Amino acid sequence: MRPSDLLHSRPEGLYCPPGDFYIDPVRPVDRALITHGHSDHARPGHAKVLATRQTLDIMAIRCGPDFAGTTQAMPLGEKIRLGDVTVSFHPAGHVLGSAQISVERNGMRIVASGDYKRAGDPTCTAFEVVRCDVFISEATFALPVFRHPDASQEIGKLLKSTRQFPERAHLVGAYALGKAQRVMRLLRDQGYDKPIYIHGALTRLSEYYQSQGVDLGDLRPATVEDGDKADFAGAIIVAPSATFADRWARRFPDPLAAFASGWMRIRQRAKQGGVELPLVVSDHSDWDELTATITETGAGEVWVTHGREEALVRWCELNGIAARPLHLVGYEDEGD
Ligand SMILES: [Zn+2]
Repeated sequence: MRPSDLLHSRPEGLYCPPGDFYIDPVRPVDRALITHGHSDHARPGHAKVLATRQTLDIMAIRCGPDFAGTTQAMPLGEKIRLGDVTVSFHPAGHVLGSAQISVERNGMRIVASGDYKRAGDPTCTAFEVVRCDVFISEATFALPVFRHPDASQEIGKLLKSTRQFPERAHLVGAYALGKAQRVMRLLRDQGYDKPIYIHGALTRLSEYYQSQGVDLGDLRPATVEDGDKADFAGAIIVAPSATFADRWARRFPDPLAAFASGWMRIRQRAKQGGVELPLVVSDHSDWDELTATITETGAGEVWVTHGREEALVRWCELNGIAARPLHLVGYEDEGD
């Protein structure tokens, strides 16, 4: 059996013929295994969905309770038989509920890691190395120039700015799933105990994180009524960055725009987006994390997907590991 007999790409997504299922399909299919709740991986409309309990809950919050025909929750580390293959889920350290999916048949194991990171994150279970024959890796930040700094150091810059500019509202752009909650938890870890104001788009997911034991402290709706504008002086408001252009954002006192994203490593990108305070906080692996992880899995072969495939493929080849890009379409790193 060749690895491509066990998993290969189809227009719908990554397909396993002997198990008759897809991993993170981009089109509706009969059976989907989902790595995590970001919208490019977790789409509604599949007949059967297998994912971790938290990913299923997140999909229901984001897509509505009828997002799939039937669902089955997969506990981390447990094995299940699907057709002729054995499947298990393992933590990916990306966002709450995120998992790598191991697919095994006749002694061959392929691990589809979805999106993952190795840096510490108090809002989700840490990545677990799974030894395998073929490792499928994302490549969002797969260039040596990407080396993410310590996230708490970046959050320290935000706190420093609120002290320097106590009259300005600090608007922090962050993806609604994962990044926003991580930023809030990191603020709490540094002793920030004032209320954090959140955009309505973050309410249900943040409440869900709290229900799963991730303490985000005192969260309040970021709504400006007549007269209370001054309450937001020096306050931290977390919102999807797309809302910064809305009338909503202009009601805050002298707003200072920050954005928490791995892309903030590129100065030009911050400038173009009108970001005054770039915070390099990423939920994806940087170059060192990607290469270290590939080595640790012991994989003899690596398939690289969504992102800078060429550089990582080249690194693998230089290090004696067979590698090729896996041309999957429809993924846009929602939670970078
Ligand atoms: Zn993701």
